Amino acid sequence: MKKIVVLGAGESGVGAAILAQQKGYEVFVSDAGRIKDAYKAMLDAHQLPWEEGQHTMARIVDADECVKSPGIPETAPVVQALVERQVPIIGELEFASRFLHGQTICITGSNGKTTTTSLIYYILQKAGFSVALGGNIGKSLALQVAEGEKHDWTVLEVSSFQLDTMYDFRADISVLLNITPDHLDRYGYVMQRYVDSKMRIIRNQRRQDCFIYWRDDEYAASELAKRRAEGNAVTALPFTDAPQDGSFGCDRDGMMRIDVPEGLTVRMEDGAQLSIPVAELSIPGRHNVRNCLAAAMAALAAGVDADTVKECLRTFPGVEHRLEFVCEAHGVRYVNDSKATNVDACHVALEAQTTPVVLIVGGTDKGNNYSTLFPLISRKCRAIVFLGADNSTLHKAFDDFAAEHRIAIADTHSMPECVAVAAGLAQAGDTVLLSPCCASFDLFQNMGHRGRLFKEEARKL
Ligand code: ADP
Repeated sequence: MKKIVVLGAGESGVGAAILAQQKGYEVFVSDAGRIKDAYKAMLDAHQLPWEEGQHTMARIVDADECVKSPGIPETAPVVQALVERQVPIIGELEFASRFLHGQTICITGSNGKTTTTSLIYYILQKAGFSVALGGNIGKSLALQVAEGEKHDWTVLEVSSFQLDTMYDFRADISVLLNITPDHLDRYGYVMQRYVDSKMRIIRNQRRQDCFIYWRDDEYAASELAKRRAEGNAVTALPFTDAPQDGSFGCDRDGMMRIDVPEGLTVRMEDGAQLSIPVAELSIPGRHNVRNCLAAAMAALAAGVDADTVKECLRTFPGVEHRLEFVCEAHGVRYVNDSKATNVDACHVALEAQTTPVVLIVGGTDKGNNYSTLFPLISRKCRAIVFLGADNSTLHKAFDDFAAEHRIAIADTHSMPECVAVAAGLAQAGDTVLLSPCCASFDLFQNMGHRGRLFKEEARKL
């Protein structure tokens, strides 16, 4: 019997263990940290052997193959030991895909993955397709496969860490939204290594598969050219949101237009045309225009008709904690963008605002440079409310600038206080925007907890 060791007993590891057992492998699960009770219960229910708080090396390196959680870096001693013993290390998606039915749409990028993945899934569902959702989002793909789910399409959000452990996997449709510096600590602070990781999304793709990418990205086009030189023949479908006269992107009248080239062989031969005013897209902001373009193209390539795609772009409810409209109280709109845990995310959030803003920022600071926000803040913000256990770094960063531009500053240390203060500073017609630029762990369990408390408080007003 072939032996599989699963490293890391989170959502993906537990799913992989259950699937591996079902497929006849002898399985051992090892986690150096504490395993959540819910996952222990799942492992026990399947009588899967596991350990926590340690790695029993002898048992681990004895495996024929290892399924590694994306959270465990290559530099971890346990991974090094497996490499030394030449035990192949793969990820859950690679493993699950061996048993997967139907075709896949895989979405990666530094930003916008969850939004675009959710939108593609929404469109395919509305079109009546048999479709599943997985990857870095929701329920583990391996568990879905183990539970016998069979779909014509699976839409997968794929992170760079997941791509690093994918080898034979091939996406029918791949989407690369953008590549900007992220997680560089895991790539030896070498940007090219992170770029190479993202480009693995087109690995194994053939001419009849397609690759949708943002043409204006700093890396995507030149990196594709390199892979072309190495023989990759995937059908490339670049898009742009810069006003232009091309057929796939946004034109000068603020219309989003897509003409699918004739001969595109992923399901459609005839070509389809889609045209919708950007103003009608349900999710706001320039970044979301790009996400909508990518999602629409992927859905059309999968064979969804243009009318359904168009309707879905108008009705997609968006994803929680990403520029999520909460409510309107006393003429003030409340928007929850708790997911914005870095300055770039706050930047795109501010860009998307069309009214004066009371901006809420703060939390655990990762050495942010806030000055890149100053031009936007000076144009758009009436006030800035700090929300954190310790706001001293924010005061240092903002006080002089705010005084110069007559922008009010307020200091708060809890969500009820913060929302009350923000409501007091806002005038009818304004937007109170929680887009904190920071992680949430100083006052909240996580960004979801922060966002939910914000919504609760706003709805009480
Ligand atoms: P991910 O899953 O890649 O983290 P999300 O869809 O959850 O992406 O979006 C996270 C944040 O990234 C959003 O709140 C927004 O600020 C920003 N963002 C989303 N899409 C894009 C994009 N296409 N380009 C740049 N930034 C984006």
